[in-house]
Amino acid sequence: MSIFEDKKTKNTPVSELGEFGLIDYLTKPFKNNNKNTIKGVGDDAAVIELSKDQYRLLSTDMLVEGVHFDLSYTPLKHLGYKAVSVNVSDICAMNGKASQITFSIAVSNRFSIEALEELYSGIKLACENYKIDLVGGDTTSSTSGLVISVSVLGEVEKQKISYRNGAKINDLVVVTGDLGAAYLGLQILKREKEIFLSNPGVQPDLHGNDYALQRQLKTEARSNFVKVLDDLNIVPTSMIDISDGLTSEILHLSKHSDVGITIYEDKLPIDYTTMNLAKDLNLNPIFCALNGGEDYELLFTISQSHYEKLKKDVDFTIIGHVTDKKEGNNFITKDSTSHPITAQGWDPLISS
Ligand code: ADP
Ligand code: MG
Repeated sequence: MSIFEDKKTKNTPVSELGEFGLIDYLTKPFKNNNKNTIKGVGDDAAVIELSKDQYRLLSTDMLVEGVHFDLSYTPLKHLGYKAVSVNVSDICAMNGKASQITFSIAVSNRFSIEALEELYSGIKLACENYKIDLVGGDTTSSTSGLVISVSVLGEVEKQKISYRNGAKINDLVVVTGDLGAAYLGLQILKREKEIFLSNPGVQPDLHGNDYALQRQLKTEARSNFVKVLDDLNIVPTSMIDISDGLTSEILHLSKHSDVGITIYEDKLPIDYTTMNLAKDLNLNPIFCALNGGEDYELLFTISQSHYEKLKKDVDFTIIGHVTDKKEGNNFITKDSTSHPITAQGWDPLISS
């Protein structure tokens, strides 16, 4: 409500466009005014000309209490670490190296100096691990909860940059690490919160789920894999980080690259503890690997000529290949049937 409200103005709900539709709609009218802006909105990071051989990378992410994190099961130190990691991850997704961050907070009076010190101890640890520098930020108050906004700067050699839009027909589709664990870690934390709320005397039972909890709470950016690719002389033809879930990112790569992508169920890298935990929680592990978010692994495409170099490395899994756009995006199950990949993931799995 505003005192200036014009009764005739339409009030279209944001939900009509969704997140990506809204970003497109709002940013469409903008034209770049500077020659050195190489890539603006639409990739994991903005790309700015730095020198003859180098690009500067810039990305930003906001985390809001109650939307992106729940402090009843997220230690502040872990939150600080994660806020840095998810930003560094966007620089990795451009095949770049992060160098500096700014960290801004809006805090309500619920937070003590000691609590904020905890948050900053996580930021410090992340800065040490990723070898980046905290160079600024902003501090203000909030009427409810904690809001964090982080920006990250990075660099990449021009000839090594990977955009979302470079995948070519017949390229191999590769994912780092393993999938689905972070989502299951969140389910465990949510379950224990529910139990605690209905019976505050009961201690949380987090026993035996270390890997999933670590994947949810101690998010790591995959900067180590960017280094491995560089050592192997591999420049991905396209790349994105997996923040929202594998299927969602597959759709981004195929849309931006104007191709189709086919991936295979029996190739998905799922840790055995993830398999077991999914079964304990009555969830389909394949569904978790396809749609569970926050793994922050890298998803990329490479020319087939690099196959020999990557095939023996267990940290990289070839999960599919790039096809002509007209074949669409497909998920091939173990029984060799093909299912179109939709924005909601693979529907039959949701109901199974
Ligand atoms: P990621 O998940 O990799 O962090 P997002 O999905 O948040 O990326 O954003 C996609 C693209 O849209 C990025 O280029 C981002 O900078 C841009 N973007 C997101 N929100 C806005 C906004 N409110 N105004 C302008 N650009 C935005
Ligand atoms: Mg990203």
